[in-house]
Amino acid sequence: MDVRYPAEPFKIKAVEPIAVTTRAEREKHIAEAGYNTFLLKSEDVGIDMLTDSGTTAMSDRQWAAMMIGDEAYAGSRNFLHLQEVVREYYGFRHIVPTHQGRGAENLLSQICIKPGDYVPGNMYFTTTRAHQELNGATFRDIIRDEAHDAQLEIPFKGNVDLNKLQALIEEVGADRIPYVCLAVTVNLAGGQPVSMGNMRAVKELCARHDIKVMFDATRCVENAYYIKEGEPGYADKSIRAILKEMMSYADGCTMSGKKDCMVNIGGFLCMNDDELFMKATELVVLYEGMPSYGGMAGRDMEAMAQGIRESVDEAYIAHRIAQCRYLGDRLTEAGVPIVRPVGGHAVFLDARAFLPHIPQDEFPAQMLAAQLYLEAGVRSMERGIVSAGRDKKTGEHHRPKLELVRLTIPRRVYTYAHLDVVADACIALYKHRDNIKGLNMVHEPKVLRFFTARFEPLK
Ligand SMILES: *Cc1c(COP(=O)(O)O)cnc(C)c1O
Repeated sequence: MDVRYPAEPFKIKAVEPIAVTTRAEREKHIAEAGYNTFLLKSEDVGIDMLTDSGTTAMSDRQWAAMMIGDEAYAGSRNFLHLQEVVREYYGFRHIVPTHQGRGAENLLSQICIKPGDYVPGNMYFTTTRAHQELNGATFRDIIRDEAHDAQLEIPFKGNVDLNKLQALIEEVGADRIPYVCLAVTVNLAGGQPVSMGNMRAVKELCARHDIKVMFDATRCVENAYYIKEGEPGYADKSIRAILKEMMSYADGCTMSGKKDCMVNIGGFLCMNDDELFMKATELVVLYEGMPSYGGMAGRDMEAMAQGIRESVDEAYIAHRIAQCRYLGDRLTEAGVPIVRPVGGHAVFLDARAFLPHIPQDEFPAQMLAAQLYLEAGVRSMERGIVSAGRDKKTGEHHRPKLELVRLTIPRRVYTYAHLDVVADACIALYKHRDNIKGLNMVHEPKVLRFFTARFEPLK
């Protein structure tokens, strides 16, 4: 295989069979799921690219770590180990474990936000913004304009536009901005990375105004790889060193361990500030558990500590990004419109360009995801108007410029051959795209509607 696409840097020790279904069966399944891929049963799915969240294959060493779980109610040695590893690899002084990323978002939002505040971020994320709004803040998007253009091929498309941040500070005043939420990488922009220079500049600007910078560190290792590859001065640095430097430009972070910590469940909140840490430990007992386990079992903390070490392995991360590019390159060669450049955890189909005849109100990305399942049993996820939800003031749909279907690659789970199946299915659909029609939403939950909304095809 082309060295652009290095072979899997692991061999397979345990296997899990993949479901084989007929088209007739899939038609029944997707109708029962209300044309929402979140509502499919996993046993009816062939290749599952719904998410890279919690879907990682753990290593033999992580499974071994699970056996040395110390399930003490307080002061578990696995917590002390996780704390040591987080300090070593991320550099923050304090860590509060949570059951997953949104547990950390809940704590951070509650301890930092007061009603009427603004939280700027480089594009929203669903659960992150929901917690900010729940605590009375208004989210403001400060990502560079280019991030909203799916086809524009530029590096570090996730960067903050410093002028937008400066303008917000002037508009509302620094005392109404408790922190900037900086996502590395930016999931909803297509997994686009942020440059080290941009992180440094955001930190400098915020420090001048006494505003904290909190990273959404969910995919920070993938971000580090892009810096190593594309930012002058970093080619010879290790991923580990780059990660540590990145984190030096933050006052803390929320982390979904289900992504770059290589585990199936878990998360944490970090900070350097002692007072903030005190507040977080008071609140964590209410929502998660004792500060020495949060929402995690001892064994899960041990597996996470080992996962953090493995996540910065150079061969692992090079292969991971190469897999994303392999799928992206196959689609691009066949003319299928995707978000360029390809990001660190997924390939995003550009549903606007794929199905230009379906208006956004008829949910083109939602339908494209359903069609991909029908075509080949491949499960993907809508990231467009359904995910964006409604404006809490006007009640109108948020209308994101990006109307996408996310083909997410779980870590260490699939081979290039599986990605060929996915690519072939997308290419086949693209050939008969004119026959695809839109959807009507028949059930709409009030919060995070994309998880459980139901649809029917338009005639
Ligand atoms: C997954 C994710 C979260 C939330 O984490 P959970 O572990 O799913 O609760 C937050 N931010 C980003 C960018 C994510 O991808």
